Order: sequence, then structure tokens, then C-alpha cells
Amino acid sequence: LWQYICDEFKNKLSTISYNTWLKAVKPVAFSGNTLVIEVPTALHKDYWKANLSNQAATMIETSIGQKITIIAKLPEEPNPLQKPRYATSQPTGQNAVDSRPTFMRETKLNDKYTFETFVIGKGNQMAHAAALVVAEEPGALYNPLFFFGGVGLGKTHLMHAIGHQMLTNRPDAKVKYVTSEAFANDFINSIQTKRQEEFRKEYRSVDLLLVDDIQFFADKEGTQEEFFHTFNALYDDKKQIVLSSDRLPNEIPKLQKRLVSRFKWGLSVDITPPDLETRIAILRNKANADHSAIPDDTLSYIAGQIDSNIRELEGALVRVQAYSSMTHMPITTSLAADALKNLKLNGKSNEISISVIQDKVAKYYHISISDLKGKKRVKSIVLPRQVAMYLARELTDASLPKIGHEFGGKDHTTVIHAHEKISAELDNNSELQREVGDLKGKLKK
Ligand code: ADP
Ligand code: MG
Repeated sequence: LWQYICDEFKNKLSTISYNTWLKAVKPVAFSGNTLVIEVPTALHKDYWKANLSNQAATMIETSIGQKITIIAKLPEEPNPLQKPRYATSQPTGQNAVDSRPTFMRETKLNDKYTFETFVIGKGNQMAHAAALVVAEEPGALYNPLFFFGGVGLGKTHLMHAIGHQMLTNRPDAKVKYVTSEAFANDFINSIQTKRQEEFRKEYRSVDLLLVDDIQFFADKEGTQEEFFHTFNALYDDKKQIVLSSDRLPNEIPKLQKRLVSRFKWGLSVDITPPDLETRIAILRNKANADHSAIPDDTLSYIAGQIDSNIRELEGALVRVQAYSSMTHMPITTSLAADALKNLKLNGKSNEISISVIQDKVAKYYHISISDLKGKKRVKSIVLPRQVAMYLARELTDASLPKIGHEFGGKDHTTVIHAHEKISAELDNNSELQREVGDLKGKLKK
């Protein structure tokens, strides 16, 4: 299916557009009539949502006759087809693609996150060096290795790079990468399915355990307890543990003292925002990898616009490339300035929350919020409810389970259904078009 979509787009789009929007995308799950794809940046996600998802769905429908929905997600976002995280009751009847319990699945490291593609600069030099040491001599020197620093500075990249390097040295090594949320989720699932033994065996038999974003352990007592034992088992076995967080262990609220003290046994290194030179080098690498010729002064200009987050920096480059391909103009500094002006506007208009949507929709249709989130099946309530879900899907980045949750704990399929229903209805119902248009206008203000 994915191959088919790629082939079709290859014919339809220019090479640069194709390279920009399709090359770095991969399918991650297909279930029911929903295809989930993974895209590298928030810009890709927006673009897919606004343009390509619908185009691809139309292609499939006209050729195969099957209606499908395509959802783009970022690598760090949960797969919307999987159970919502922290679900403790109400298991939903979804057919996961891989039927093994989540904790038994192999780690898929991102191929792009290697030491080769990592640009070294002042802010990350020490983190990079420590990562390399640990990859070469796991368990020997810095255990655990703890990265901390702001969002988009390369913590996840380095963790994957360690995993790749270790597998290159020892192809039979068992490497496991999880976010702290995935760990918590796995743990809870193992209790629900009475497979705690297997869970423990799985986590305690690895050679390298990478746990990303452990600040999300805050508040999860049971999970911390379990992680404490996992940590001890691995540590005693001299297996390497690598952790990351957006702050130091002792600054993470509600993290058990004994975990904080263990996390300090090894080495903690921070990653600070890249200086201008490093940012230019990162952009240059990226442009080269995309075979896109960008003048130096333009690279400097872009690097000067975004200074604290490498993900956004990459997003800015993609935006400039896309802008150039859409306008058929070569990439210059003035073109970059135009392209990035829009980026800033977009960033602001994105911050619409589900509760604001619910509020506006309820007022607009003169119904109560509790009816909007409730279960009543009368038409005067069902329509506003579906409109609100549709808008939540269109105007926010929230995942399907998250939207379902915000609407009184509904299943993600209900959200998909509502979205499809309203989309179809909008094609031939001018009154609804006007209403939805009005609502969008109000929300964007
Ligand atoms: P974090 O986990 O710290 O939030 P990531 O590791 O996800 O950040 O990095 C965000 C993006 O920036 C990724 O696409 C990553 O490849 C890229 N990146 C970060 N640091 C570097 C670097 N030093 N060289 C090249 N790319 C980098
Ligand atoms: Mg990360």
C-alpha cells in the first residue's frame, strides 16, 4: 500500500517535493482502515495533514475502492492505533499489527540517528564523547550515563546512536530503547495481562537499556518501583544503562530519592543549545544529504533565525526547501526570509486546545459541554459532537485516543468515524460548510 502511494506521488509531484515530503516518511502501522506514517518534523506533519493525507486517500479510493485514513505522527509520538498510554481500565478492542505484548517487541532504532550524522559543537561535545565511550565500552565506565538538556538538542539522537554503534560492534547484542512512557505503559500492560514475569525477563536480559525522557516518571509510583528493580538487576550485571531527561534527576518532581541517587552513580552530562557555527554546520549537512544547493549566506540566515532547538532548525530548512519548490524559485536569503515569516505565524495559530474547541462548539449550537462530551444520541447533540471532534482532529495535534479521551472517554474509532462523517457531509451540505467555517474563524481569532 505504502509503495503504491509513493509511486503515485512520484509521478504526481516534482522531484524536490517528492524528496521533501515522501523520502523521509515511513509507514508504521496499518489496521482497520487507518494507515499510520511516521514523519520527521512537525512541518511534515502539518503538510501531510493539510494536503497529502487526503490526496493519498483519494488515490487509494479511486484505484482500490477502499476508504482509508492516513495519520502522520512524529517519531516520539505514540502510535494512535495502539492503546492510549496509562489506560488502566477499558481495554479497547483494537487489532494491533504486532500481536506480541508491547514489551516483547524489538526496538527499532531510527536509521538517521547515528554518530555519523551527529554534528559536534560546543554545546554537545561532552555528551557526544561520553556517548561514544559508552557505546564502545558498555557497562564499564559511565553507568548510568545520563543526558539532560532542553527539547530538540539531540538527546534522543545520541541514544539511538549508542544503540546503533553497539550493534555494529556486537550484532548479537540486545539493545532496547524506550521512552519512560513506553516503559510505564509496558509495565501496566504486563500487570493487566498477568505477564509480569515475561516483562521482567525482557527488560532484565538486555545488554543496553536506553530510557528516554525520564521526567515523565514523575508521579508514577508503581512504575518507579519497577524501574528501580530493573535498574539494579542491569547494574549488577554490568549492563549499560543510558537515561535522558529535560533536567537533572534531583530537579524531577516526585522522583524517588533512591532513583535520584542511583542516577548520580554514573555520569551526568548536559547538552546546551548549539552556537551559530554548529547550527550552520547542521544545516549544511542536512542540505547536502538532501542534495539541495543552498548558498552559505542563506544557511547563516536560517541558522540566525532559530537558535534553541535543532528540530525547529531542521523544520525551518524543510520549509525553505518546500517554499522554493512550490514557487519554482531558487533558494536565496530573501526567499528564506519569506518562507520563515509564515512559519512564525503558523506556530501561533497552532495553539488551539480541545477544550477551547468544545467550549466554542457548545456555545455555537446552544448545548451544554456535558452533553457535548456525553453519550446522548439525539441529532441536535450528535452533530455538534461530531463537528467538535472533527475540529479537534483538524486544528490540533492531539492523537485520536487523546481526542476520544477528552470527549468523555470515547474510543478512537468514534473519532475517526466523526471525522469521516463530517468530511463527507461538508462536500454537499452548504449549511454545515458555513457553520464549520464560522467556527474555524472564531477559533483562529
Ligand atoms: P531531544 O531528544 O534532545 O529533544 P532530538 O535528539 O530528538 O532532541 O533531536 C532533534 C532533531 O535534531 C533530530 O532530528 C536530530 O537528528 C537533530 N539533531 C540534534 N542534534 C544534532 C546534531 N548535533 N547534529 C545533527 N542533528 C542533530
Ligand atoms: Mg528526545
